[in-house]
Amino acid sequence: QMVNAGPKADKPDDSKAKPEPKPQVSIAKLFSYADGRDKLYMFVGVIAAAIHSCMMPLFIANFGSTLDELGEPVRDSDEKTVLESVASFCILFGIIGLVAGVVGFVLVALWSISGERQALRMRREYVKCILKQDIGWFDEHPAGQLPTAVTANMAKVQDGLGRKIGDIVLNGLSGIALLVTGLIINWELGLVMLACVPFIGGSVAVLSALMSSSTQEGNDHYSKAGGVATEVLSGIRTVASLNSEEIELKRYGKHLDGAYHAGVKEGMAKGLGNGMLFTSFYMSYALAFWFGTKQVADGDGRSGGDVLAAIFAVLMGSMMFGQTAPGIAALGVARGAAVEVFEVLDRVPPIDSSSEKGLKPASVEGQVLFDSVGFSYPARPNDVVYGSLSLEVAVGKTLALVGPSGGGKSTITKLLLRFYDPTSGTVTLDGTDIKSLNVAWYRQRIGYVGQEPVLFAGTIALNIANGKLGSTQDEIITAAKAANAHEFIKSFPEGYNTGVGEGGFQLSGGQKQRIAIARAIIKDPAILLLDEATSALDSESEKVVQAALDELHKDKPRTTVTIAHRLSTIRGADKIAVIDKGVVELGTHSELLALNGVYHMLCTSQGGKTEEEIEAD
Ligand code: ADP
Repeated sequence: QMVNAGPKADKPDDSKAKPEPKPQVSIAKLFSYADGRDKLYMFVGVIAAAIHSCMMPLFIANFGSTLDELGEPVRDSDEKTVLESVASFCILFGIIGLVAGVVGFVLVALWSISGERQALRMRREYVKCILKQDIGWFDEHPAGQLPTAVTANMAKVQDGLGRKIGDIVLNGLSGIALLVTGLIINWELGLVMLACVPFIGGSVAVLSALMSSSTQEGNDHYSKAGGVATEVLSGIRTVASLNSEEIELKRYGKHLDGAYHAGVKEGMAKGLGNGMLFTSFYMSYALAFWFGTKQVADGDGRSGGDVLAAIFAVLMGSMMFGQTAPGIAALGVARGAAVEVFEVLDRVPPIDSSSEKGLKPASVEGQVLFDSVGFSYPARPNDVVYGSLSLEVAVGKTLALVGPSGGGKSTITKLLLRFYDPTSGTVTLDGTDIKSLNVAWYRQRIGYVGQEPVLFAGTIALNIANGKLGSTQDEIITAAKAANAHEFIKSFPEGYNTGVGEGGFQLSGGQKQRIAIARAIIKDPAILLLDEATSALDSESEKVVQAALDELHKDKPRTTVTIAHRLSTIRGADKIAVIDKGVVELGTHSELLALNGVYHMLCTSQGGKTEEEIEAD
């Protein structure tokens, strides 16, 4: 499987080594996916938050007077009764309730909806941008971790896009309004109580901020553990054959340990914050009541209602300040997670298969030329695969690539597929640099069959149709026939509708490979790339698949580049190139044998054959 041929990006886990401040995107960037409607929603949401923040101070300001009314023992008979005067307060409280209800609803609903809308747009774009990245990017971003990364990052981003800013505005404004109210009602008591604000607000804030950071740490560990599980389960056959279950479990367990420690830390933080909160709360009451009662007792004009109202205003205000912390923390987490998201969203891949740009010549002959190609993988720029490689495949001819493992044969097919661009030199198709061709159009001209066919969950018909957008049933059957697959497909009870891929019908390696050939051939490609297409098969299947491959040339000769081990395949090629960090030898089978060089050695070592036997093979 070509895509995974690269080495695993084994990055050291440096998350513990240096806790540098994590980069964050700006708030404006975080919200850059908001359209006009979202901005309107958020604006109205902020206005609602502002209105909402006036409700509690309004309530508390009147709360004190209500208490004083209740406490007044003697009343003038000309004036309103106690019930009458309290009733007007009750009506006011009712109105406050209605207004708070409406703006509370508007605030949460509008912010949540706009967050949902922005996140939906970002998610769609995020996955779209991942799919259009070049293969070099995937070398450095292991495919197994991407789904968990997408899910985890987007959950965090969405959390920040949602009602969090509305909450911060609401709690912040409420806090200010309540403190001011407290000071207006009873400034001396208010000032004394200000001393308590840092303790109450602080413990609420510390509690929630600490909690959200360690929750995030736990999630990071869980997503790493999830990555291990995905990797292990998708390679379960290899794991079973290596008997490496224990090793994998240990690897999984290491991440779980991390999550456990993060969980313990979270529990401690929660407990500490909680304890601090209660202590500061009740101590503040103690201080406030002592001071307030002293004020009333000293007869400096303060009523009991004033004292109580001021106490509540300041206490509630400090709680509100503290409550801004989870929102601020979530916003920070979202801005951190957005860095990775925007890295993908903003990355313009050097090779973009979704781009409309590039030439789309009307017809293709199929002449392929590597002209002084130098190449290193982007993930390993210092390892030079070729310094300067030149090769030509004439129209309709077959070039076989042989050579030692790691010599760079597969890399040639990857360069031909334009998974990567050469570091120097050019690859041309019919004389045109493939860099100037439209990527999607160009790849449609190439049929690729690799060593291990990957079939997707779905019917056989769908798998073959995958090779070409909008292929008809007739085209599918023609392709299957060309690939020698029609007969066995028809023999299945459900024929072309047989489900394959993960959890589907179990096909033999040879059958899978013939479906992969049908998928490659349905495009009617000008160029065929066969990368060890038969090497994973037993000799019986190998013959059938090889016959299918030979068949492909009968109706129409296609320019073919094949990497093979089997001597008969290699020998039949029009030209053979021995590749070892460049072209070492080039010629026909007999020319190369006559050289008595690397090729000769490869042939004799393969079967221990003498020259005569090779000639006769
Ligand atoms: P061959 O097909 O002849 O066995 P390859 O073309 O697969 O050789 O590999 C040539 C060299 O490039 C090897 O040294 C290999 O380790 C390296 N290589 C292959 N794929 C990648 C990749 N995705 N990233 C970095 N190096 C790679």
